[in-house]
Amino acid sequence: MDLYEYQAKELFAAHGVPVTKGIVVTTVEDATAAATEIGTAVMVKSQVKIGGRGKAGGVKFAKDVASATEHAGNILGLDIKGHITKKLLITEASDIAEEYYVSFLLDRSNRTFLAMATKDGGMEIEQLAEERPEALAKIPVDAIRGVDREKAAEIADAGRFPAEVRDQVIDILVSLWEVFVAEDTTLVEVNPLVKTPEGQVIALDGKVSLDENAEFRHPDHAAFADTDAQNPLEARAKAKGLNYVKLEGQVGIIGNGAGLVMSTLDVVAYAGEKHGNVKPANFLDIGGGASAEVMANGLEIILSDDEVKSVFVNVFGGITACDAVANGIVQALQILGDAATKPLVVRLDGNNVVEGRQILADAAHPLVTLVETMDDAADKAAELANSGV
Ligand code: GDP
Ligand code: MN
Repeated sequence: MDLYEYQAKELFAAHGVPVTKGIVVTTVEDATAAATEIGTAVMVKSQVKIGGRGKAGGVKFAKDVASATEHAGNILGLDIKGHITKKLLITEASDIAEEYYVSFLLDRSNRTFLAMATKDGGMEIEQLAEERPEALAKIPVDAIRGVDREKAAEIADAGRFPAEVRDQVIDILVSLWEVFVAEDTTLVEVNPLVKTPEGQVIALDGKVSLDENAEFRHPDHAAFADTDAQNPLEARAKAKGLNYVKLEGQVGIIGNGAGLVMSTLDVVAYAGEKHGNVKPANFLDIGGGASAEVMANGLEIILSDDEVKSVFVNVFGGITACDAVANGIVQALQILGDAATKPLVVRLDGNNVVEGRQILADAAHPLVTLVETMDDAADKAAELANSGV
């Protein structure tokens, strides 16, 4: 999960990376109050999870409160590459003598962590990497050793930071590495890290991506969840521990295993071309242990999607065999009772397929159609969705 700049800076501050004081607001009145409270010239900054806000007019300098009010009015609601500005960060404006760049990231292709640093910040880092790759230091970081002062000095020197800021940059690199490890991130980036005319080094922007696989270690990170931006069905599915992504379509999808679900989306999209162009409505992987409860939770979420007209349950019995899954479907339909309102096309294959199909046949639920192959089942589900039941 990517964080907003103001959230990234909260983590920076908690680990000793110097940042400027800031206040997050959602209205022009509160922006005025925040600028008044800060009492100096301020920056009015759009909080959207996309880079290049400055170029898009989402970052403005305000010399006084009146100008902060005017910029807030212009930036609230501003569309930055499809991201609508709903929050602003009002922060003390710094004078800038020099702009630098530092980041730590997970370098998947080289199976290591990587530090990137340069004294030549202030431009898009992709552009620098392209035009003057020698100016951007890339230093692998060993996961066990991490970044101590000695390693930080190696990074600062490779990035050619001037002598007068070297010690501050080393401190900042050590603190940023602490953010990277302690908060379980896959990216921390500061662009720009600046030197003020007084010689103080501060992080003026911040980007952090949290590693969602480590979420269980950070109950406090729940406060960062973007409830506005999140789809309500996805939020409910997440609360139930389901791996669900809402899509724009009419055929609800339940499968076990991410790969199978991905191919199910493909075959349904393909089948849909023959049936009024219906499309898959979601991704939902119920995983290996497809219990009745998980099946019921999954069905409940999918059936509460108003766009859904039919549901395709595509299960390959492995460790959890088809008979257990079939029992799960039957029990899930009992649990749901009248809440089960849309036709279900079920395709079972794999371990104990004969027993599984028999269980569904015996249950003879009026909403359930059992189809043998994945392609035929996709076709049937698309046809049912298109007939607009
Ligand atoms: P981004 O465009 O999304 O990366 O947003 P930034 O937070 O990096 O802001 C864009 C640019 O605005 C920065 O590169 C700086 O040049 C400028 N900027 C940001 N904060 C300040 C500040 O406090 N003072 C001054 N003078 N310029 C700033
Ligand atoms: Mn920036």
